[in-house]
Amino acid sequence: MPTPLETLATPIADVVALRPPQQQQLARLAMRSVGHFLFNFPRDYEDLSDLRPIDELEEDVLQTVRGTVVEVDSRSMGFGKSRVGVLISDRDLLLRATWFNQPFMREKFKMGQRVQMSAKPKMRGGRWEMSHPHTVWLGDEFAEADKQTPTSDLQPIYSLTEGMTQYHMRRIAGEVVPKFADVPEEVLPEPVLAAYNLMPIGESLRAIHLPMNMEEVTRARRRFIFQELLVLQLALAARRHQQRVNFRAPALEVSAQIDARITRLLPFALTPGQRRAIDEIGVDLNATTPMNRLLQGDVGSGKTLVAVYALLACVAHGHQAALMAPTEILARQHAHTLERLLDESRVRYRLLVGGLKSGEREQTLRQIAAGELDLLIGTHALLQERVQFKNLGLVVIDEQHKFGVEQRAALRRGDQSPHYLVMTATPIPRTVSMTQFGDLDVSTLNDMPPGRQPVKSYVVGPSEQERWWHFARNKLREGRQAFVVTPLVEESENIAAKSVDRAFEELTSGELADFRVDILHGRMTPVEKDEAMERFRRGETQVLVATTVIEVGVDVPNASLMIIASPERFGIAQLHQLRGRVGRGMHPGYCAVMIDEEVPDPVRERLQKFADTSSGFELAEIDFALRGPGDLFGTQQHGVPPFVIADLVRDAEILEEARAAAFELFKQDPGLANPEHAKLRAQMLRRYGAALELADVG
Ligand code: ADP
Ligand code: MG
Repeated sequence: MPTPLETLATPIADVVALRPPQQQQLARLAMRSVGHFLFNFPRDYEDLSDLRPIDELEEDVLQTVRGTVVEVDSRSMGFGKSRVGVLISDRDLLLRATWFNQPFMREKFKMGQRVQMSAKPKMRGGRWEMSHPHTVWLGDEFAEADKQTPTSDLQPIYSLTEGMTQYHMRRIAGEVVPKFADVPEEVLPEPVLAAYNLMPIGESLRAIHLPMNMEEVTRARRRFIFQELLVLQLALAARRHQQRVNFRAPALEVSAQIDARITRLLPFALTPGQRRAIDEIGVDLNATTPMNRLLQGDVGSGKTLVAVYALLACVAHGHQAALMAPTEILARQHAHTLERLLDESRVRYRLLVGGLKSGEREQTLRQIAAGELDLLIGTHALLQERVQFKNLGLVVIDEQHKFGVEQRAALRRGDQSPHYLVMTATPIPRTVSMTQFGDLDVSTLNDMPPGRQPVKSYVVGPSEQERWWHFARNKLREGRQAFVVTPLVEESENIAAKSVDRAFEELTSGELADFRVDILHGRMTPVEKDEAMERFRRGETQVLVATTVIEVGVDVPNASLMIIASPERFGIAQLHQLRGRVGRGMHPGYCAVMIDEEVPDPVRERLQKFADTSSGFELAEIDFALRGPGDLFGTQQHGVPPFVIADLVRDAEILEEARAAAFELFKQDPGLANPEHAKLRAQMLRRYGAALELADVG
């Protein structure tokens, strides 16, 4: 007896008589075996139930007609090309069906046969025509012989390569699915099938390829989506479990004394949200299993203070701590913040960025290794450089929503791992955080520091620009400051720098002639950038014309105006980040996105939605629904294989169920060692083992 796997390896060509070109096409689709075919799901279905008399047809809508074959002809058109034409009549009306380069179709039709044809018809030369219609032979001996042709009104649509047709794929489905659908073994344990009302595997395969109706398709698809998400959730649970078992971190108890010492240093009373996050972090830090926590909070919610608290708690125990930011500007800003706070304390901290002289750099690295520095602030590049710490206890990574396996691995030594806190201001839709960050615990800052008002945002068209600049000049005269962000030009820093220069010229010789304006872009040296930022921070510059280098994290409380040119080039989440640069102090913030005449309506609507919505979480959901998880999911970076059938935007509900099921399974059987779970476990390891570094232990 062959095993199920051996049976599924049967070449399709052994089951269905195919011509060599089709065999080659199948190979190109990586579908040589019946197993491949079974799990290559249709991408859609067409409903052939819209049956009409020929004189009631409409162009370009999928419809079905019935008639009698009254003429069959086939014509060679040279160069190996051919055309088969079939004329059918229904009462007195005629419809012509044509097939190109499928000469064998000629043999399928006989005069006087009753047939049913489905396609999107076209009117040509006063007669309805269907090209390559899906055809069913009705009520004669041919229909009996042609048993491959399924007779449901619902026909699968497969992804094709050139040379392959839906006709061939459906023929294969008609042969392969009934014969082999029951061969694959059930992966999902019986209790899971029952608890979540899932269709068993064989039934699902039949329903997804050869459905009788759409309800069947939906149930079958739900089963496969559930399975895919369940396997991922199990992998994430396994990963989390293994992290706990395999790595040790120093336990850093935040005693009442330490808490008092830290809070005394902080310039503000903590918001309830900050307090809650700090308490959650405190519990994690007090354990010898490394913390893996994501802190998310809208722009301006005060994540830095939470990070500082955690860093100081770590340093209080004599362990080193590191704070990493995505840009040098932000790293420097964090260093400034800490400088102010740590003025009176004995904490030894240092900024490690690209601009340092090599002597300084060497010295810093030596001090880190010798344990003569407590706190290191730098860019994410620190992770790659394998800086040698003496006794690293905590790493805080700011503004990073992609936090890969490699990065976490980078700072481990043997089984010793620091605690990790990742902070993101790009609110992450729940479905994404449940998949991408499924192995992280999440703390959410859901309040804002007191007195914060939402930034008033406007979509400013050409006719309103004059008024807006007038308003802006008044604000500047009152002592406020402004950012002007010029179009994001992805291709080149040079072009971006030019657009900054151009905007600078225009503004200083026009709208902002009377004000102190400065520029900031990626082409400047780190020192130049830092100086420009500092002049702005000190208020010497009133307006900073910049690229999106200021997008993340920049915190200048006196800046209250954000003016964005060509906003259509930005995603909503990014606009929200930019807007988050203002309204951070006691002054209300204003944001203007400046649009041209040419901006199309849907874009204008998207921008208006941005202007009308102040919650980053809400905007993230809108952006997500519009554009999908995009690179947020970061699958390429993680090496995590993309989903085959699941879609995070559409399948949020199934994801919740699959996650619950995974937690339940994992709670009962953390190693998935129970024989009932063996197949699930094998699938998890096959799919995610490498990407998530899952060890093949329980
Ligand atoms: P983000 O979460 O975007 O990183 P920041 O940490 O930069 O936000 O904080 C935004 C602003 O709010 C900063 O100017 C910071 O000093 C201020 N802030 C943070 N926490 C508080 C608080 N508890 N009370 C008052 N102001 C606060
Ligand atoms: Mg921040």
